[in-house]
Amino acid sequence: MADDRYDIVVHGGTVLDGICDAPYAADIGIVDDRVVAIGDLGDAHASRRVSAVGMRVAPGFIDIHTHSDISITFHQPMVSMISQGVTTQVTGNCSLCLGLATSSETFAFEQSWLDAHGARICWTDLDGHLKYVREIGCGTNYVMLAGHGTIRKRVMGMADRYADRHEIEAMKRELVVALEQGAWGISTGLEYTPSGCANLEELVALSSVVRRYGGFYATHLRNEGDALLEAVAEALAVGEQARVAVQLSHHKAEGRRNWGKVHETIKMVDAARQRGVDVEMDQYPYTAFMTNLATQILPPWAVRGSNDEVLARLQDPTTRQGIAAEVRDRYPDLEDDSTESPWELIEIGVARGLRSLQGRTVASLAREQRRSAVDVALDLVVHESNFLSAINHGIGAEDVRYVMQHPLTMIGSDAVGTGPEGKTGDDPVHPRCYGTFPRVLGRYVREAGVITEAEAIKKMTVLPATRLGLTDRGKLAPGAYADIVVYDPNRVEDTATYEEPHRVATGIQTVLTNGRITWDAGAWTGALPGRVLRRGL
Ligand SMILES: [Zn+2]
Repeated sequence: MADDRYDIVVHGGTVLDGICDAPYAADIGIVDDRVVAIGDLGDAHASRRVSAVGMRVAPGFIDIHTHSDISITFHQPMVSMISQGVTTQVTGNCSLCLGLATSSETFAFEQSWLDAHGARICWTDLDGHLKYVREIGCGTNYVMLAGHGTIRKRVMGMADRYADRHEIEAMKRELVVALEQGAWGISTGLEYTPSGCANLEELVALSSVVRRYGGFYATHLRNEGDALLEAVAEALAVGEQARVAVQLSHHKAEGRRNWGKVHETIKMVDAARQRGVDVEMDQYPYTAFMTNLATQILPPWAVRGSNDEVLARLQDPTTRQGIAAEVRDRYPDLEDDSTESPWELIEIGVARGLRSLQGRTVASLAREQRRSAVDVALDLVVHESNFLSAINHGIGAEDVRYVMQHPLTMIGSDAVGTGPEGKTGDDPVHPRCYGTFPRVLGRYVREAGVITEAEAIKKMTVLPATRLGLTDRGKLAPGAYADIVVYDPNRVEDTATYEEPHRVATGIQTVLTNGRITWDAGAWTGALPGRVLRRGL
């Protein structure tokens, strides 16, 4: 077809299109933002030819679980995302949604994340946020979930109690507006305040609204450790009662004594699917998680309410004693000769005040100071005014493999999009920000053979596209958007570590979003072709 003209031809590669299980040799012809031809385009005219000889050509990765709404105001290229092949990301997860925050005092916590980068919340609703993102641009396509916690704060502030009938109605109205403005569903973060103040009735009421709009319910479970099974049962109950599609976020079992429980949770998922509940899940391929230290270790009642209330409890001697006793139950103090203490697994992540402690384990600090590990941890929370995250190496390696092998597990980074240049490069982030997708393809596919390459690509493309209801992304076919990643299946791997997280992966050669190249030869091209995708529009 020598007469055909293409803007770009990706030639000489083997294609894994997200649909077929076997890779096949083909060129991809692109006009404007769409794939228009797949086949032998050797003679065709092209304004630009991208060589994929020796490479794999796949649909751009859809990251079903990110927090990049936190960083979009100060980092539009999303270098950590495009450098691993991501072309679409779903933001607003774990109940937190910057798009529904406002500049009012109620959202001082959300604003505090932006302050460090000189950014401001300058919108009052989802529509305003999405218009703003469209104006400033983004390296990837941008999808947003309505955060349950953020909606709750709009209606009830940080009220630490069940919502009454009127408040539930008010939240439903807020949710309807967000869904009409293009939100793709709702996210909960039931381990956090205020999302965790909701009971089943509230979750079902809101999820029923989401179902009417064809959206889904993404849930960071109420508990991912000792009470994991009960928490999964609750998520499935929401799915069953609201007849809404359920996405179990970053699925895992935290804490050595809970390892293996994912065998039970997956049985529950399979059984629920038999009953007609549309439940799927996502995971990141790491054996450590990273969240606020207080949320990890304190009993739920102690982290309820505002930040000031949490700190006040830790500063009141009697209350603190009670908290410490409960923490000790789950995280016993160090024994002299034990290396099995959970405190050995907890490492300081982001500490704005005591930066020198970043990377140290609580156990090592306790030994050095000859103090109780529980006291050291609680003091750190107070010292850092609760702006303290920790890396907890508390996920079983076997569990990660087991969850990955389930056919309905997608890959989601749970990351905030970031970049190594400038101020963002100083943020001590989790290595999954840069490494999630290459790590699956390198370590889990090529090296360990946990899943096949075709299975991995489905988990990164077709599965999340189907969950979202995107019919023209997540696959390579004529008519689909030209979201494409070209990678070297023999070299692709993550290089980011907990010590040096801002390292881009190797083996990702070229990435295109909406027909424009965002990542090439190890660098951002300067393009911001990502689009704001609104559900139903
Ligand atoms: Zn989460």
